[in-house]
Amino acid sequence: MADDWTVEVDTRRCIGSGVCASTAPGRFTLNNTGRSQPTTPTVTPEDRVLDAAFTCPMEAITITDRGTGRSVFPEEGVGGVIGGGGVIGGAGGTWGAGGLGVRVLLGRA
Ligand code: SF4
Repeated sequence: MADDWTVEVDTRRCIGSGVCASTAPGRFTLNNTGRSQPTTPTVTPEDRVLDAAFTCPMEAITITDRGTGRSVFPEEGVGGVIGGGGVIGGAGGTWGAGGLGVRVLLGRA
Protein backbone atom coordinates (compact mmCIF):
# COMPACT_ATOMS: atom_id res chain seq x y z
CA MET A 1 0.00 0.00 0.00
CA ALA A 2 1.34 3.42 -0.96
CA ASP A 3 2.21 5.97 1.67
CA ASP A 4 0.05 9.02 2.17
CA TRP A 5 0.92 12.27 0.47
CA THR A 6 1.48 15.65 2.04
CA VAL A 7 -0.20 18.28 -0.12
CA GLU A 8 0.75 21.94 0.09
CA VAL A 9 -0.22 25.08 -1.78
CA ASP A 10 2.21 27.96 -2.06
CA THR A 11 -0.13 30.89 -1.44
CA ARG A 12 2.48 33.29 -2.83
CA ARG A 13 2.06 31.61 -6.22
CA CYS A 14 -1.65 30.78 -6.11
CA ILE A 15 -3.84 33.16 -8.10
CA GLY A 16 -7.10 31.59 -6.94
CA SER A 17 -8.09 30.20 -10.33
CA GLY A 18 -9.96 27.34 -8.69
CA VAL A 19 -8.66 24.79 -11.20
CA CYS A 20 -7.48 22.53 -8.39
CA ALA A 21 -10.82 22.66 -6.57
CA SER A 22 -12.68 21.72 -9.73
CA THR A 23 -10.17 19.03 -10.69
CA ALA A 24 -10.11 17.46 -7.24
CA PRO A 25 -13.36 18.42 -5.49
CA GLY A 26 -13.16 17.89 -1.77
CA ARG A 27 -9.37 18.00 -1.81
CA PHE A 28 -8.85 21.72 -2.39
CA THR A 29 -10.90 24.73 -1.44
CA LEU A 30 -10.52 28.47 -1.83
CA ASN A 31 -10.11 30.20 1.51
CA ASN A 32 -11.40 33.62 2.54
CA THR A 33 -8.42 35.31 0.86
CA GLY A 34 -9.28 33.68 -2.45
CA ARG A 35 -6.31 31.36 -2.35
CA SER A 36 -6.42 27.60 -2.51
CA GLN A 37 -5.66 25.32 0.36
CA PRO A 38 -5.82 21.56 0.76
CA THR A 39 -8.87 20.44 2.71
CA THR A 40 -6.60 18.09 4.63
CA PRO A 41 -2.80 18.25 4.87
CA THR A 42 -2.41 14.58 4.00
CA VAL A 43 -4.29 12.41 1.56
CA THR A 44 -4.16 8.88 0.30
CA PRO A 45 -2.62 8.90 -3.19
CA GLU A 46 -5.20 9.84 -5.78
CA ASP A 47 -4.88 10.58 -9.48
CA ARG A 48 -7.17 13.59 -9.19
CA VAL A 49 -4.87 15.23 -6.63
CA LEU A 50 -1.92 14.65 -8.92
CA ASP A 51 -3.98 15.99 -11.84
CA ALA A 52 -4.77 19.12 -9.83
CA ALA A 53 -1.08 19.73 -9.18
CA PHE A 54 -0.25 19.06 -12.80
CA THR A 55 -2.89 21.43 -14.15
CA CYS A 56 -2.30 24.28 -11.70
CA PRO A 57 -1.36 27.22 -13.94
CA MET A 58 1.00 28.62 -11.32
CA GLU A 59 2.72 25.38 -10.28
CA ALA A 60 1.66 26.26 -6.75
CA ILE A 61 0.87 22.75 -5.56
CA THR A 62 3.49 20.38 -4.22
CA ILE A 63 2.98 16.77 -3.23
CA THR A 64 5.41 14.82 -1.08
CA ASP A 65 5.38 11.14 -0.27
CA ARG A 66 5.23 10.99 3.54
CA GLY A 67 6.95 7.64 3.70
CA THR A 68 9.97 8.36 1.56
CA GLY A 69 10.07 12.15 1.62
CA ARG A 70 10.27 12.00 -2.18
CA SER A 71 8.70 14.77 -4.20
CA VAL A 72 5.76 13.32 -6.11
CA PHE A 73 5.00 16.65 -7.76
CA PRO A 74 6.88 18.34 -9.16
CA GLU A 75 8.75 15.22 -10.11
CA GLU A 76 12.28 15.29 -8.84
CA GLY A 77 14.60 16.53 -11.56
CA VAL A 78 11.82 18.35 -13.41
CA GLY A 79 11.18 22.03 -12.91
CA GLY A 80 14.27 22.45 -10.79
CA VAL A 81 17.13 24.83 -11.18
CA ILE A 82 18.10 23.39 -14.56
CA GLY A 83 14.84 21.63 -15.36
CA GLY A 84 12.08 22.66 -17.74
CA GLY A 85 10.41 25.85 -16.61
CA GLY A 86 12.97 26.40 -13.91
CA VAL A 87 15.53 29.10 -13.42
CA ILE A 88 17.63 27.86 -16.33
CA GLY A 89 14.83 25.92 -17.94
CA GLY A 90 12.65 26.19 -20.98
CA ALA A 91 10.56 29.05 -22.25
CA GLY A 92 9.40 31.30 -19.48
CA GLY A 93 12.30 30.64 -17.16
CA THR A 94 14.62 33.44 -16.18
CA TRP A 95 17.27 31.94 -18.42
CA GLY A 96 14.83 30.30 -20.79
CA ALA A 97 14.46 30.51 -24.53
CA GLY A 98 13.86 34.07 -25.55
CA GLY A 99 15.16 35.34 -22.27
CA LEU A 100 18.35 36.99 -21.25
CA GLY A 101 20.17 33.67 -21.01
CA VAL A 102 19.99 32.91 -24.72
CA ARG A 103 21.49 36.25 -25.60
CA VAL A 104 24.24 35.81 -23.03
CA LEU A 105 25.06 32.37 -24.37
CA LEU A 106 25.24 33.79 -27.88
CA GLY A 107 27.48 36.61 -26.70
CA ARG A 108 24.95 39.29 -27.54
CA ALA A 109 23.82 40.33 -24.08
S1 SF4 B 1 -5.04 25.67 -9.51
FE1 SF4 B 1 -3.19 26.60 -8.60
S2 SF4 B 1 -3.46 28.81 -8.91
FE2 SF4 B 1 -5.47 27.87 -9.20
S3 SF4 B 1 -6.46 27.97 -7.17
FE3 SF4 B 1 -5.43 25.98 -7.30
S4 SF4 B 1 -3.40 26.30 -6.39
FE4 SF4 B 1 -4.25 28.32 -6.87
